[in-house]
Amino acid sequence: MTELKNYKMFIDGEWLDSNTDKTFETLNPENNKPWARVPEASASDVDKAVKAAHNAFEGEWSKLLPRDRAKFLRAIGNKLRENAELLGKIETIDTGKLFRETNKQAIYIAEYYDYYAGLADKVEGTVLPIDKPNIQAITTRIPIGVIAAIVPWNSQMFLTATKLAPALAMGNTVVIKSSELAPAVMFEFAKLIEETGIPKGVVNVITGFGDPCGKALTTHNLVEKVAFTGGPETARHIIRNSAENLSEVSLELGGKSPVAVFDDAKQENAINGITAGIFGASGQSCIAGSRLYLQKNIYNEFLDKLISRAEKIKIGAPMDPETEMGPLSNFKQLEVIEKNIKLTAEQGGKVRCGGERHPFSNEGFYFPPTIIECDNHNLPAAENELFGPVLSVMKFNTEEEVISKMNDNQYGLSSGVYTSDFAKGLRVSKAIRAGITFVNTYRLISPSAPFGGIKDSGYGKEAGLESIKDYTRVKTTWYYTSDEPTLDPFSMR
Ligand code: NAD
Repeated sequence: MTELKNYKMFIDGEWLDSNTDKTFETLNPENNKPWARVPEASASDVDKAVKAAHNAFEGEWSKLLPRDRAKFLRAIGNKLRENAELLGKIETIDTGKLFRETNKQAIYIAEYYDYYAGLADKVEGTVLPIDKPNIQAITTRIPIGVIAAIVPWNSQMFLTATKLAPALAMGNTVVIKSSELAPAVMFEFAKLIEETGIPKGVVNVITGFGDPCGKALTTHNLVEKVAFTGGPETARHIIRNSAENLSEVSLELGGKSPVAVFDDAKQENAINGITAGIFGASGQSCIAGSRLYLQKNIYNEFLDKLISRAEKIKIGAPMDPETEMGPLSNFKQLEVIEKNIKLTAEQGGKVRCGGERHPFSNEGFYFPPTIIECDNHNLPAAENELFGPVLSVMKFNTEEEVISKMNDNQYGLSSGVYTSDFAKGLRVSKAIRAGITFVNTYRLISPSAPFGGIKDSGYGKEAGLESIKDYTRVKTTWYYTSDEPTLDPFSMR
C-alpha cells in the first residue's frame, strides 16, 4: 500500500495538527482509495484560528495602506500562476475534476487576485450634503473584521478567490474552512500564501466536518461575516448559527438551471453550450444547465443530435489530457444521482442515454452522460439538484410557456437561452428569474462578472466591482467645524 500524504492546518502562520490529534483520510475518486490524511479541526482549533485572525486584524493588517495590501494579493496571484500545475494535480487527485480544467483554472484564478488588488485603493467614501450648520460629515468604508470563508469541494480555488481576494483587499482577515470531502488543494494553496510573507494570522486554512468545525466557526463571537458556498440545507444551519454571534451571512447555494432552445437557434452552437453546461466537470457545477426545454418542432431532431454528441464524450482518467469526463467526486453524489434516476424512470421518465454506473473503473465513481426525457418538470431528476451529468429534457410550444416553466423551480442561480432572434433573446433573458443568464453561450466566469443567485440559490454576489463593498461597512464621521461651543446639550439637533 502506498503511503498517504500528510497535511497540516495553517493557523497563525504555523503548520499544526488538530489539538485532539484527530485526522481523517481523503479519497481519490478515480479509484476510491485514500491518498492523503488531514487533521480534523476541533472547536478549540477553530477558536485558535479565529483568535489568530482577530489579532492579525487588530494588529497591522487592517491598518496597512490599501496599496500595500494589494502587493500581497498580486503576490498570491503570481504564486498561483507559477504553481498551477501542482495545484491542478492535487485538486484533480482529490476531486476527480479533469486536470485540463484544474490546471487552467489555477492560472485563471490569479486574475481574481489581480482584479481585487487593482480595486484595493479605489473604494472611496463620500462627503454628505449635511443639513446642519458648522458640521462636515463624511462616510468611509471600513473593514468588517474576521471573515469565515466556507467552501464546498468543487471549484474550491475559484470559490475561495471570490471571498479571499476582496476580503483581504479591504483589510479583513480570513479563516478558510475547506470541505472535508476534498481539502488537500487548500493546504497546498496555504503554502503559497505563506511564501508571500503575508503577516501571520491574516489567512488561516482549516478543515473538518460540519460539526464541530463548521458549527464552531459560524457561531464564534469574533467572526463578523460568514461567506458561504454550499448546499441549501447547510445554509439553514449557518443562518441559525449566525443567531449566536449576529454575524453577517452571504450565501451561494445550489441550482437547477433551465436552458431553452428555440427552433431558430444555431443548433451546433446550442449543442456545444448545453454539453459544456451539463457534462463539463461531470455536471458537478452549481450553474450546471440541468433542465433543458426544446421547442416542439425541433424536439426530436435536436434531441437525437444531443444524444449522439453525449455518447461521444470520452470518459477516462482525470489526469489524461484526452479525457472529457472523469469520475464523480464522491460516493454520496453517485447515490443521490442513482436514486433520482430510478425514481424518475418509475414515474415515466425515459432514459435516452447513460443512466447507469460506467464500467470504466468499477472502483472509481464513474457515471456517464445521462439524458432523460420527462413529460413534466416535476419529476425528481428534472426538479432536484443532482450535481452530476444528468440532463432532463422537456418540450415547449411558446415563448410565454417556456418562461413560465423555466421560472417554476425553487432555485434561481443560472439559466440559458439559445435563439437567433436578438429581440427574443433579450425578452426571455429579462424574464428569467435567475442571477445569471447566458444567451447563446454557457459556463463562463470572470473577475468582473458578478456571480450568484436569487430565490433558494442564496443572496449576496461574488466577483465584480460591487462585491468588494460587501467586505466593508459604512462608517459615518461627524466633524464640528465651529470654534464656538455647542449650545443646548438637551436637544438633539
Ligand atoms: P455542503 O453544504 O454539504 O458543504 C459545504 C461546506 O459547508 C463544507 O465545507 C462543509 O463542511 C460545510 N458545512 C457543513 N455543515 C456545516 C455546518 N453545520 N456549519 C458550517 N459549515 C458546514 O455542500 P457540498 O455538498 O460540499 O457542495 C455542493 C453544493 O454546493 C451544491 O448544492 C452546489 O450547488 C453548491 N455550490 C454552489 C456554488 C455557488 O456559487 N452558488 C458553487 C459551488 C457549489
